[in-house]
Amino acid sequence: MLTTTSCISAGDEVTPNVILGIHGGIGEDKKDMTPDLEAKVRAALNAALNAGKGKLDAGGSSLDAVEAAIRVMEDDPILNAGKGAVFTHEGRNELDASIMEGKSKKAGAVASVTTVKNPITAARAVMEKSKHVMLIGNGAEIFAGKQGLDIVDPSYFWTEHQWKAILEVWKQEAEAKAKNEHGALPENQLPPIHKFKFGTVGAVAIDAMGNLAAGTSTGGMTNKMHGRLGDSPIIGAGTYADNDAAAISCTGHGEFFIRYAVSHEIVSQIKYKKVSAKDAVEDVINRQLKEINGEGAAIVLDKSGRFTTARNSEGLYRGWITADGTIQVRIYDK
Ligand code: ASP
Repeated sequence: MLTTTSCISAGDEVTPNVILGIHGGIGEDKKDMTPDLEAKVRAALNAALNAGKGKLDAGGSSLDAVEAAIRVMEDDPILNAGKGAVFTHEGRNELDASIMEGKSKKAGAVASVTTVKNPITAARAVMEKSKHVMLIGNGAEIFAGKQGLDIVDPSYFWTEHQWKAILEVWKQEAEAKAKNEHGALPENQLPPIHKFKFGTVGAVAIDAMGNLAAGTSTGGMTNKMHGRLGDSPIIGAGTYADNDAAAISCTGHGEFFIRYAVSHEIVSQIKYKKVSAKDAVEDVINRQLKEINGEGAAIVLDKSGRFTTARNSEGLYRGWITADGTIQVRIYDK
């Protein structure tokens, strides 16, 4: 649920000539941020931007840049994607990812995978090497193995900080249940798990051909039910790219982003309502979602290379890089 302290409207200015924009989720509330974590987040975002730019500089496509940037963030244990994914209610890691390119509108996704080291690469393989858009669970893992992708033991995804987070949630749940002899808890008595919820990663890029791409990868939300999917693997919810409008990647409380088809809604507003990317993303994140307490954020790169973001959360780990190599990395207002 959206807390009053985090219920703010914020976003970044519009920056022209951006070739790659990324996010690392909403992240820690400001009061919980430490200098050490902040330095690690900024280093991770810088590394991801440089990896993506490296692909574009070498003549790669926007898809190459999106995949490269996201792989760096998936491999970084401080972000909730790949290594560093949150734990489910049952104490496992179930990962989701999707990718889309804006010219052909081809897309790929994997969901609920437990052994695929880089889900974004598996999503791309589904797009390019299967006749499907989404593969889930064991089927996705078998497919990824057949494609020669890195397969790991599920224990690879274990990290101490995420394990501590789920232990704390279990403790809060047990305490809350002990106080309530009737079992199920009313919504307003659910444990305060807000601070553990978000941390997905995503990227949007445009290449020399003017083709847009977007991708998103996540461990989902701490304490999610086994088998639960959020918006991140769902094309039109967490990820969308359309060369006639923009590329978008979202982060936040996935159930709301699915119901409001957020990334497709932003694209539709740009395309049919003829509003700017800035107006579209602000309308969806800071009006539509805010009205229903749907906490989250989106990054948007339009077809002319103008980049912006909107969030109704306190922070958003994010960054962007322009064609001349200038990097911006921000967490809250800066
Ligand atoms: N959107 C993701 C989900 O609901 C969570 C996040 O963005 O951190 O699974």
